Amino acid sequence: MSGQKGKVRLDDLPVVADRPLEGEPGADDPARWQEIAEQVDRRLDLLERTEARAGDSSLLDRLFSTGLTRRDFIRWSSMMTATLMLPPLFEPRVARAAALSTRVPVVWINLADCDGNTESLLRTGDPDFATVILDTISLDYNETVMAPAGAAAEARLEEVLQKERGNYIAMFEGALPTGLNGAFLTLGSKGETGLSLARRVASGAKAVVAVGTCATFGGIPAAGPNPTGAKGVGEALGIPVINISGCPANATNIVGTLLDVVMFGRMPALDQYSRPLWAYGRRIHDNCERRGHFDAGEYVLQWGDAGAEQGWCLFKMGCKGPYTFNNCSLIRWNQGTSWPVRAGHGCIGCSEPAFWDSMTPFEQPLGEKVYGSAAGIGIDAKANTVGEWALGIAAAGIAAHAVATSLRNRLSPAWAGSGAGPDGQPKAPTHSQEGE
Ligand code: SF4
Ligand code: SF4
Repeated sequence: MSGQKGKVRLDDLPVVADRPLEGEPGADDPARWQEIAEQVDRRLDLLERTEARAGDSSLLDRLFSTGLTRRDFIRWSSMMTATLMLPPLFEPRVARAAALSTRVPVVWINLADCDGNTESLLRTGDPDFATVILDTISLDYNETVMAPAGAAAEARLEEVLQKERGNYIAMFEGALPTGLNGAFLTLGSKGETGLSLARRVASGAKAVVAVGTCATFGGIPAAGPNPTGAKGVGEALGIPVINISGCPANATNIVGTLLDVVMFGRMPALDQYSRPLWAYGRRIHDNCERRGHFDAGEYVLQWGDAGAEQGWCLFKMGCKGPYTFNNCSLIRWNQGTSWPVRAGHGCIGCSEPAFWDSMTPFEQPLGEKVYGSAAGIGIDAKANTVGEWALGIAAAGIAAHAVATSLRNRLSPAWAGSGAGPDGQPKAPTHSQEGE
C-alpha cells in the first residue's frame, strides 16, 4: 500500500453494498459479486492505511507459531468464506480481512454468565485460526485474558472508551440482570451495575455484538422464575445488536461476524432474533448427517442400542435439531472434528431463546411435552412414519425466518449496529423480539 499511515476511523471507511444471499436476486450474477469484491478491496485498502495497533504485526506470526501453516491459513480462509456464504472470489479478501482485523478496536465485557464463551476459546488444546484471532483482537479490553487486573484494568477500560469512542466494537458475554435497577450484578471496585456499564460501553460503540445465549436471550440466568430479571443485552438496553447465540457460541461464528463487519461495514442480514442469516439461516436438522435416518424412520430408542451403534437419528432421544437454527452441523466444534449429534447426543437447542425452559427435558422429544399423551396426537406415532409433526413445527420456524429475510433491508441499515444515537443515547430497537 502506498500512502501515509495515519488515524482512520471506521466511519471514514466506505460501506459496501448489501450482498445477496442464496436464492436472492443477484446471488448468481458474477458481475454483481465482482462489483462487491472491488468495494471490499477499497475498504480494506483504506483500513490497511490506518496506524498499526499493538498486536497487528504479530497476528500472522502468532498464527504460524501455533504450528499452523500458510496452507492451513488458506484452507481456513476458504472455509470461512463458505461459512459467510460468499463465493470463492472472496477467499483472498477474507484472508486479508483476518490479517487486518486487529486494526479494529474491540472491547469485550463479561456480564452474568459462566464465562463459558471465553472458556470455550481459552481451553482449546489445539487453537485454530479463529481462536488465535479472537485472542489477539481482544487485547483492547477483555478482563478474563488481559494482563492488568483491578484498578489498572478499570483504568484501561476507561481509556479505551474515551480514546476510541464511536470507533470500537463492543462484544458482550453474559446476561443483564435488570431487577432492582440492575443491583443483582455489580462489577469493579466502585460497584457499578452491569446495566450501567453495558449502557456506557454500548453508547460509545460502533457496533454491538452479543456473544452466547446469555448475552443474546438471557440464557440460563433468565430461566424461570428469573428472579433477577435477567435479559439479553439488546432487550435490556433497547438497542440493535448482532446476536451470536449458542451455549457457547462457536468461535467460527464470532470471528465470522467480526470479519463481516470489517469487510462490509454494515450489519449482516439478520433473522428475527438479530442473528446473522449466514450462520442461523438453517436448522441443525437440515444439514445433519443423521437426517437420512430421520427420513427413513430409523431412530435410536435407547442409549447404546443397535440404532445408536449404527448412527441412527436421535429425535426420539430428545434431539432438538428440528427446532434449532445454527450451523453446528456444518462448521462443527474442536477444530471442526465433531459436533454433539455426531458424538452421539441430540442437539439441546442451545442457540434458541429460552432454551432452558422450552427445550427441556433435553432427552425427551419435545412433542411429548407440548401435546402430552392426553391430546392423543402421539408424536412418536408420527415420528415412526417420517416425522411429519416435527417437520410441521420446523416449517413454522422456517416461515418466520422467511419473513425475517424479506424484512432484511429494513432491519439492516448500513452499519446501524452502533448503540449510540446522534445524541449519544441508545437507539430504539429496530426489530421485535416478541414470541421469544
Ligand atoms: S432429529 Fe436430530 S439427529 Fe435426527 S436428523 Fe434431525 S438433527 Fe439429526
Ligand atoms: S448442536 Fe445444538 S445444542 Fe449443540 S452447540 Fe449446536 S445448537 Fe447448541
